[in-house]
Amino acid sequence: MTRVLNYINGQFQPALSGATIENIDPATGRVYGSLPQSNERDIEQAYDAAIQAFGSWRETTLEQRSAILYRIADLIEENLEELAQAESRDSGKPLLLAKTVDIPRASSNFRFFAHALTQFSSEAHESVGKNSINFTLRHPIGVVGCISPWNLPLYLFTWKIAPALAAGNTVVAKPSELTPVTAFLLAGLCQKAGLPAGVLNIVNGTGPSAGQAIVAHPKIKAISFTGGTATGAKIAGVAAPMFKKLSLELGGKNPNIIFSDCDYDRMLETTLKSSFANQGQICLCGSRIFVERPIYEKFKIDFVRRVSELRVGPPSEEVDLGAVISKDHKQKILGYIALAQKEGGNILTGGQETKLEQHPEGYYLQPTVIEVKDHLCRVNQEEIFGPVVTLMPFDNEEEVIEMANSVTYGLSASLWTSNLDRSMRFGQRLESGIVWVNTWLNRDLRTPFGGVKSSGVGREGGFEALRFFTEPKNICISYTP
Ligand code: NDP
Repeated sequence: MTRVLNYINGQFQPALSGATIENIDPATGRVYGSLPQSNERDIEQAYDAAIQAFGSWRETTLEQRSAILYRIADLIEENLEELAQAESRDSGKPLLLAKTVDIPRASSNFRFFAHALTQFSSEAHESVGKNSINFTLRHPIGVVGCISPWNLPLYLFTWKIAPALAAGNTVVAKPSELTPVTAFLLAGLCQKAGLPAGVLNIVNGTGPSAGQAIVAHPKIKAISFTGGTATGAKIAGVAAPMFKKLSLELGGKNPNIIFSDCDYDRMLETTLKSSFANQGQICLCGSRIFVERPIYEKFKIDFVRRVSELRVGPPSEEVDLGAVISKDHKQKILGYIALAQKEGGNILTGGQETKLEQHPEGYYLQPTVIEVKDHLCRVNQEEIFGPVVTLMPFDNEEEVIEMANSVTYGLSASLWTSNLDRSMRFGQRLESGIVWVNTWLNRDLRTPFGGVKSSGVGREGGFEALRFFTEPKNICISYTP
């Protein structure tokens, strides 16, 4: 049994109330561990530790701070195997994915911000002719809250924590109650790396209990949240009237637009990944596929054949898709597949649970492709967040731009074409924070990351993150020439 504990002021401890939550292995549907069910008392204790630690952490030299973050990155790399095993078991994702994507990226997050903090400069503006000069300092905010989801557990947890710490803040952070283990292991690595007690505090528990207590804490001055749009709205409702700084990375329903002049083989390989990587549970997955009419039938045949060959099975084995995160989530996805049929959608492949003999209670689903007739139907408008994509033909640019932009979300979009002018036109007109042309999930950590419309507020990544986690202060000095 894996017993996760809170990490507060450099100490591992249970929730103050002693309450726990069961942790379930999605691959088997069985309980395999527990975690603390924390509440506002635990958050208060974590806040006290964080504010105590803030005074000296903000004063550490950039070199010292950077060295500790580099050391954490190294330790993540050195412990890749253990972390990947834990991530795969906790979330149901294929072990290979955890080894090649999730854990390496967690290390890169620390490495990137360890370096970025030494390159982040303040600004000066000389008011020429007015004998004045302005310095804009960027000070850490204080104690900040970081809340992350279950789909890319350590990857997204570290994506918030690393810039928050790099900027000189101290942190109270909560991983998803469904995937707490790698954050727990990270706490041990941070301790080993010499991160002073209280600088990072990790508190476990459900969203409405531990998460809500972070958001509502009057002295936690900024909240960086990644998760669903409905939760984001709740968080904004609590935090906005308290005038907290807010970064919200929310849901998506991303279009994947395929023109007949694309590099077909490359597009097909990438589209398999962008549709079903991590069982389709990546906010950037392209869940609405639009294909230009001349290659529609060919694409449909090739894609459906390749999808039906994808292997679904225990995440510890060589599979393309592991288990989805929970029983409830599996039911939600199946509900959308049933809805698709009611809406007149045609299931081209998949559509069912996969029952594994060795793990009949695990949460496995077949990768599913649904041909839809109307881009405004609910399965084409609402985030399913599972191994389900829709397929529709289109005839011209105007039509597909209108269909792509018809959702309330606007996180990312992919475009497949060899026409440079077209890629610029789409880049300008697609309503999303990220547009990929002839690629997918291709991230340079210096670039801004985030969505428009219901996909979020604010940007993460590079200096955007360091700006979020600092407060600018302008000092204007008038001098006598
Ligand atoms: P949720 O919104 O359910 O949860 C996200 C986090 O918020 C979890 O830690 C959760 O805790 C916590 N939480 C829940 N309720 C509250 C509350 N009232 N106050 C404070 N915290 C709360 O999202 P999921 O975990 O289900 O993640 C999937 C969603 O995340 C999808 O919509 C996906 O699109 C989105 N996402 C967005 C990304 C982006 O960058 N834009 C990237 C990845 C995912 P607990 O789980 O313990 O209840």
